[in-house]
Amino acid sequence: MKIAISYPPIVNKDGQKAMVSQNRNVQFFKKPTYLLPVVHGQAATWLRDLGYDILWDDGNSQLKTFDQWYQDLVRWNPDVVVFESTTPVMNLYWRLTDKLKGDLPKCVVIMTGYHSMRKPEETLRKSQTDIVLRSNHIDFVLRKLIPYIDEHSSWRDNCPIEGLMIRRDDNDFLDTGNFKQIEPLDLSPDVDRDLVQWKNYAFENGNFLQTPGTYATSVIRDCMFGKCTFCRYNGPDLTFSVRSVQKSLDEYQRLIEDYGVREIFDDSGVWYRGAEAREFAKGIIDRGLHKKDCYFGFNTRFGYLDEETLALLSKANFRFVLIGLEASDEETLTRLNKGYGVEDAERNLRLYTKHGLFPHLTIMVGYYWQTKKQLQQTVNNVRHLMFKGLARTLQVTLCTPLDFTPYHQECIDNNVLLAKDYDEFDMSKLIVKTPIPHDEYYAAVRQIYGIAFHPRFIARQLKFLSWHNKSDWQFLFTYGARAVRRVRQHMFNLTKHEGKPVST
Ligand code: SF4
Repeated sequence: MKIAISYPPIVNKDGQKAMVSQNRNVQFFKKPTYLLPVVHGQAATWLRDLGYDILWDDGNSQLKTFDQWYQDLVRWNPDVVVFESTTPVMNLYWRLTDKLKGDLPKCVVIMTGYHSMRKPEETLRKSQTDIVLRSNHIDFVLRKLIPYIDEHSSWRDNCPIEGLMIRRDDNDFLDTGNFKQIEPLDLSPDVDRDLVQWKNYAFENGNFLQTPGTYATSVIRDCMFGKCTFCRYNGPDLTFSVRSVQKSLDEYQRLIEDYGVREIFDDSGVWYRGAEAREFAKGIIDRGLHKKDCYFGFNTRFGYLDEETLALLSKANFRFVLIGLEASDEETLTRLNKGYGVEDAERNLRLYTKHGLFPHLTIMVGYYWQTKKQLQQTVNNVRHLMFKGLARTLQVTLCTPLDFTPYHQECIDNNVLLAKDYDEFDMSKLIVKTPIPHDEYYAAVRQIYGIAFHPRFIARQLKFLSWHNKSDWQFLFTYGARAVRRVRQHMFNLTKHEGKPVST
């Protein structure tokens, strides 16, 4: 059987490209980041190991045009195509699925991703999709589903595999119930880097201080906190699964020694904490991997790493730590259910920077309740943190309700959602009613990104470098140049709707 794991090139009317992968929110960029779809990569590897013919078909990272990508896929004539989608590209995927079914009527189309998993019936009604995977464990489900389809011609009627919605005909769908929430991640293979052509993802990525970089097979799927209201890892059916420290260390060693990787980022919602984080850092040191000129990074949340752990991580050559600050007023942090306060954030950042880590802050503006005062508090606090040198880099996004998360549902229930079409959920403009004009949030984005060009911030970066080693100079000249380019395009994207009327 021939299985394509496919990512169509997606280009908007401004010629910007989007990448749907790793459960990230879709944003369109002129110079896009190509994110390795890790779980789909594990699924591809597992199916290949079972003897199936796999096409790793990422039209984005393979720099194809849409037409080229589509023609190549049709020519390959797969038996099954697996897509990954999210709210702002659902319309596109539904149209694409219908087109593909027109050209390849026998091909089974499987939709994955958090939007369709929360509304499976919608995707089956709006397109000719055959199966919606209601599980985030794409690898574990496909590893059972594909052999079942291969061996049972009546699979549509009697498939017993949990977590699926299967089309029988236009109005009859087989619901196989809830998916298995926790899976033994050690059973799923590491991503085969050659199969996914890892170098296509190794260079243009804001999370890599040096290149070539890559994403590790995640140690936590999805997030062990899972309570932030805007996050797609928050759902009554969602929890987390864990991969063992030793298996992950083996992968790091192979990536460094066999592939020459110089930066490894783990995109788990939140990485290990406590004893496992320390065991991991000690493992890196014991294997001598901290002396191989490779940096390590991960996502975490405030309050998860104590000083002893941070000191060990720093010694093991961990640098890039991505943390959601989100906002700097207590009401917003409480409403988002972040589980920490404004002061906790600063206290934690002091510890990170004391031990030589490079915190990267993610901030959002435009919550449907956010007042002028709350917005200003965030702008002021971010300036304070950056000028004090308590964070190295940052990213601001417009808070966009997505994938029927609790925040999305709240916006619908409170009648504050302005967008009527899923295409409008692409994070390029505010789509909720707010207490102050949208332009004030766009101006705040500009102010926050403006910090990167402020002489006080630049002076602070130079002071940092005078304490550190040669790699940090490299950080300024290589990563710094990429970061400035990214700041420019983020500013352009997030403020292009400034001054435009808001339709209600
Ligand atoms: S800590 Fe991060 S990944 Fe986890 S639920 Fe909150 S926002 Fe999502």
